[in-house]
Parts: sequence; structure tokens; C-alpha cells
Amino acid sequence: MRSKKNGSGKRFKYGLLTVLCLVVLAGAVWLLIVKFEGKPPVINLEIEDGYIAADARIPVSVEDPDSGIRKVWIALMQEGEETVLKEQTWEAGAALAKGGKKSFSLEVKPGDLGFSDGKASLRVAVWDHSWRGWLSGNRAYTEKELVIDTVPPRVEVLTRQHNIRQGGSGLLIYRLSEACKKHGVSVDGHFFPGYSGYFDDPDVYLSFFGVGHDQPADADMHVRAVDRAGNSARTGFHYYLGKGRFDAERLNISEPFLRKILPGFRGAAGMPEDADPVKQFLFINQELRRRNNQTILSATGKTDTRMHWSGAFRRLPNSARKAAFADRRTYIYKGEVIDKQVHLGIDLASTRQAQVPAANSGRVAFDGQAGIYGNVVTIDHGFGLFSVYAHLSRSLVEEGQVVDQSEVIGYTGSTGLAGGDHLHFGMFIQDVFVNPVEWWDGSWIQNNIAAKLEHVRDSLGGQ
Ligand SMILES: [Zn+2]
Repeated sequence: MRSKKNGSGKRFKYGLLTVLCLVVLAGAVWLLIVKFEGKPPVINLEIEDGYIAADARIPVSVEDPDSGIRKVWIALMQEGEETVLKEQTWEAGAALAKGGKKSFSLEVKPGDLGFSDGKASLRVAVWDHSWRGWLSGNRAYTEKELVIDTVPPRVEVLTRQHNIRQGGSGLLIYRLSEACKKHGVSVDGHFFPGYSGYFDDPDVYLSFFGVGHDQPADADMHVRAVDRAGNSARTGFHYYLGKGRFDAERLNISEPFLRKILPGFRGAAGMPEDADPVKQFLFINQELRRRNNQTILSATGKTDTRMHWSGAFRRLPNSARKAAFADRRTYIYKGEVIDKQVHLGIDLASTRQAQVPAANSGRVAFDGQAGIYGNVVTIDHGFGLFSVYAHLSRSLVEEGQVVDQSEVIGYTGSTGLAGGDHLHFGMFIQDVFVNPVEWWDGSWIQNNIAAKLEHVRDSLGGQ
């Protein structure tokens, strides 16, 4: 009995010792892995193009999911002078909230801090709550070279007068004092970027712009430029904006017309199945029209910085005008108004399958199907100016091909939403359809485009 008791007592002592050892060991491992973790924090700095503007906001995020951020220190340094922009510490308890991530926006006004424009460096040091280094933690450090630029770009408008109509086009030429990441003419929310490449002087830019048929007659127009640091400038220019006159047109939608056109749109994404013909027509006339306009306008993203064209644009020969630009169309079915849309081109009828000449020289930007417009060709004339040819029975060109003025690009037809054989001819600048009539007019081109280019060329000294 005694020995047995002694034996069980020893086993109990050894057992207790083992458990104690395990606890101490687990504690040591926990200390090593958790409290003495060796992973430094991560620093994320987002300084666009390495520039800091007059009133800069620099997004900074630091992260340490293991033990949390203990301290952040950020300073701006220029020619040996250092200014601390931020110094903050966090308690161990609060440091691990949100996965150990701290994000903040660093507001910097270099001028107020006594810095001058030019090179500088931003220094960021971060420590975590690890017990390493006699409790000072793991440290991450980064230094970023940057340029302080507090001067907004200067815009000098080189064209003197701009006479524009609602639905019409214009050209503005300007010089920038420095390279800018965004610049061009703003027309009530529509932005028409400027491009260099026409004049030898790389600081001189052209911006073709349009005023939408639906934009107000008192639309605000100005030049806007944002430099690489983010300093922005807004400069007005002289213009006269005339009222556009657009016609109203009533279109009767007959049952035979619906029977003719609806089968061609079967399978269009989102087309209501087995719905009544009027519902299907409305889907085509509204939703498809919107999508197809976008398809056509999307070509402007990659315009050539080359003036492909010269002189008046050519109208489809021997043709009669069947519908005008920006006609306000009311659609009537069995005596009732079912829809209203605006016609964004000019309809021209000639003989069936007449040859369609390129209105002016350019590069084919799109050749394909575009729903209500049927077979479509668009031509990029350079600097954001495009022409579009729709309802073609056949196209003779390929995307990327350079065409000369009057070169036959296809044949008229009635593909898409067309009652009969005709050409729908349109013109657009960036994302705005404009009135082609101006571009067909040689004297309008001379007064509003060619004369400006000549005037600026002369003032630049015969480039
Ligand atoms: Zn049309």
C-alpha cells in the first residue's frame, strides 16, 4: 500500500512538472512567435508621378497584422532641412484593430511649411508592437524622392474668336507653360482633350470641340489644365454661342414596318422575348440606340494626332436630304405617341446601293455591325474628329486602313433600323455628335478652322 501510494505520488509530481514545463514552453513559444514576432510593418505611399502640389493630399497606409502599429513618423526633407509632418503612437490594444492597418491622408502645403519648388524627399518610419529590440519593435523605413510643384500651369489661348452654334463645332488652340496630365476645352461637363503634334512647338495644342444639340445656349466653356502635380488652371476664352434650330418630325410606325425590321433584331441582348411588337420596337429604339451610339462614340479613345483631312467634307453625291441633324422625332403607332428620340445625323437618299465616298481623308476606326445603324464605317480624321456612315449594304474597307477623300468605302443600303435604302451620315467630336452641315461648307471651314490654323502658324513664326 505504502509503495503504491509513494508511486502514485511520484507520478503525480512528475505529471505536474511535465504540465508546468509544457506551460512554460508554450509561454516561451507564444512570446517568441507572438510577442517577439520579427515581421516589420508594411508602408504604402501613393504619390502620383512623384509630384506634390500646392495643396497636396498624400494617401498613406501602414499595416502590421502581427502585433499592430506602435508609431508612425513622417518628415519632408529639402536641402538638409527636415520638417516632421506627422508623428503618432498607438496603444498595443488599439493597434490591432482593423487587422493592424492604419490609413490616413497626409495634408501637405509645402509653401506654408517653408519649402520651395524643386526636389525634396519624403521619409516614413514605422514601428510595430513586437518586443524585439528591447521593446522598440520592428521598424520599416522608406524614403521617396519627389518634386514640389506649387505653380499652376499657365494657359495662353492663341485663337481669338469662337463662333459656335448649339449642335455645332469649334476649334481652340492654346499653349501650356508646362507638361500637363489633363488639358482641353470643357463644355458644360463634356471634356474635349487637346493634342499636340500639329505645330512643331510641342507646347501648342489643338482642341476640336462641339456643343451638343441638347446643351444650353448659355453653356459654360473654358480651358482646363491640370499639371503632373495636380495644380489646376481654368482659363476663359471669347466665344459667341448661337442658338441651334432643330426641326420636329413625326414618324408613323406601321405594322408592315415592324414586321420588316423586328426579325433583324432577334437575339439582341436584352430584347424582350415574345413581347408585343411595340415593346420590342421601343427596346430597339431606346436601349439599343443608346448602346449603339456608345459603340460608335467609343472610337474616339484612340484618335490619331494627325490632321488627315483638308478642305470641305464631301456629301453623298446626287442625294436628297430625308432627315436633318437633331430632328426631334416623335414616333406614332395607331395614332398614339409611343416614343421620342433625337436624330443624330443626316439621312441622304440616292439610288439603291449607291457608292459611298469617304467625306474626307482619314483612317478607318470602325467597320462592323452597330444594331440600329446596321453596317457601319467610322473614319478618324485626326485630333478627335470623326465621320460615320450607317445602314450600308456593304463595306469595302477594314479597320486601320487609311482612306483618301472620295475613295469609295462601301454602298448604301437599309441594314439596321431603316425604312428604305439611304445613307445615315454623322459627324462627332469626342463623345458629342455635331452637325455635319458645317463640315460640308467650305467657307465655314475656312473661317472657323483653316484661318485659325494659319493665324497661329504665322504667330509662331512660320512653322
Ligand atoms: Zn438617320
